Amino acid sequence: MSHQDLTGEVITPQDTNYDEARAIYNAMIDKKPAVIVKCKNTQDVVNAVNHARENNIEVSIKSGGHNGAGLALVDDGLVIDLSEMKAFDIDPNAKTIRVDPGFTLGEIGEITQEYGLYLPFGINGTTGISGLTLGGGLGYLSRKGGLTIDNLLECKVVLANGDVVTANTNTNPDLFWALRGGGGNFGVVVSFQFKLLSVGTVYGGPMIWEMDDAEETFRLYDEFTKTDDQDLYGFYAFLTVPPAPPFPEEHWNKRCCGVVWNYTGPLDKAEAILRPMREKTNPIIDFVGEMPMHQLNTLFDALYPKGLQWYWRAHFINEVSDESLAINIKYGKAIPNVHTTTHFYPIDGKVHEVANHETAWANRGVRWAQVIVGVDPQPENAQIITDWCKNYYDELIPYAANQGAYVNFMMEEGQERIKASYKDNYEKLVAVKTKYDPTNFFHINQNIKPD
Ligand SMILES: Cc1cc2nc3c(=O)[nH]c(=O)nc-3n(C[C@H](O)[C@H](O)[C@H](O)COP(=O)(O)OP(=O)(O)OC[C@H]3O[C@@H](n4cnc5c(N)ncnc54)[C@H](O)[C@@H]3O)c2cc1C
Repeated sequence: MSHQDLTGEVITPQDTNYDEARAIYNAMIDKKPAVIVKCKNTQDVVNAVNHARENNIEVSIKSGGHNGAGLALVDDGLVIDLSEMKAFDIDPNAKTIRVDPGFTLGEIGEITQEYGLYLPFGINGTTGISGLTLGGGLGYLSRKGGLTIDNLLECKVVLANGDVVTANTNTNPDLFWALRGGGGNFGVVVSFQFKLLSVGTVYGGPMIWEMDDAEETFRLYDEFTKTDDQDLYGFYAFLTVPPAPPFPEEHWNKRCCGVVWNYTGPLDKAEAILRPMREKTNPIIDFVGEMPMHQLNTLFDALYPKGLQWYWRAHFINEVSDESLAINIKYGKAIPNVHTTTHFYPIDGKVHEVANHETAWANRGVRWAQVIVGVDPQPENAQIITDWCKNYYDELIPYAANQGAYVNFMMEEGQERIKASYKDNYEKLVAVKTKYDPTNFFHINQNIKPD
């Protein structure tokens, strides 16, 4: 088929850079698109959408390429690759930034930190802003600033018919509602405008305990973080101590539990705020201290480079019963390698100040989004991490808050799971989908569609 009406860099299987262009973050995914269009601007996106629609070709949308299920790619179809679209405008006085869709979180943080500003988004610098935002966006600043979508002011979107529209609370408000959590179902977002928080230096980092202290430290953490102080954030984890400096050698490769803290309040109060957790427990590693927000937000990037095997599953959790804590500890002790982990991301503070029906993101009432993450550099270990993850996930099903999960932490798990994740918002999402993408042209995603 001729690709003459495509613009941007057009890459097909005959090109020497094809394999590089189809490689995404999760090396377990091996999809072979017919064509990848590296778009440089909005017109390239419009041309790609029109070309695919007129020639009946399936499309996927790729920005940061971090989606665990590999939904950035489509076999035999056309990939709209936005990763090279990286223009931005920042207005430090208004505390806003407009970004193209190709930015990673790390790149945005690098820009905003110069002004003492930061966007509430995910905990790794390498993740793409686009997929993260459209699915919701959880991270170190969720408690202080809400989900990433709670800081979204406006999007520019290329629809399935090739039209370019604006979505904000006044213009196409139904589309704007759906984009805040509904993922890549409604069009290709070519521009995001966000408001930013004033955050410079924080008091944060990991505090790690022996696995034998898991029960006690989890309960203390649970109580300690039930506070109205929106400056106090910490996510609990089961993990392996990396076998490298600065971690003390006697703890290398030990299965442990821990919290990564982020206190954004006055620095002269920070040590006193965290003191009860230090005094009541016995951390074997305590790297919590003053650091720039951006340093904390990129602290684990080196441990998770592109090209590892990934398999993950997720639950929403309201309460961790003694039985479910025992299951978590059992799988924590059985973590197969240094990269594999599980995190409990708090859903509280500012996230609770928006009602479930106000955006598409329907799980603001739960306490945590738990993600169970199997990661390994070796392809031959893919089954080991997958089994660990699935068994762990399965055993926790009876203790989950509901049958859904945070869509950005899901694999391809079927339509019922997607519906359960959007709960009462699913019907409205279907209506918005039917209005803006009636043929389900954008369906390589956690797909919203009529029954
Ligand atoms: C190491 C790692 C850490 C993570 N940490 C966090 C975290 O702390 N918090 C959190 O909330 N999530 C986190 N995630 C999950 C992350 O939010 C999702 O993987 C998300 O899909 C990544 O976005 P992306 O642009 O990189 O993905 P891509 O794989 O490029 O895209 C994923 C999907 O998003 C949609 N999409 C992407 N760009 C557009 C666009 N411009 N317009 C329309 N649709 C689009 C498409 O449906 C696409 O299939 C993490 C993921 C990884 C791998």
